[in-house]
Amino acid sequence: MKQERKPMHCSKCDMDMNLHAEKINYATMESKKKAEEPVVEIHTCPGCGATATREAQ
Ligand SMILES: [Zn+2]
Repeated sequence: MKQERKPMHCSKCDMDMNLHAEKINYATMESKKKAEEPVVEIHTCPGCGATATREAQ
C-alpha cells in the first residue's frame, strides 16, 4: 500500500482535499481490456464540498 501521496487541491478554494473513497472504475477497465482493476480515488474538499477523482497508483 502506497499511502505517501500528495493530497489533491481543490480547484475552487485550493484547500487540501481528503481522500474519501476508492472504487473500481469499470468503464476504464472495459476500455483498457486489462486484467488488473483500475482504481480511482475520490477526494472531497472540506471547504466547499467539491469532489474530484484521480487514478490510484
Ligand atoms: Zn473547495
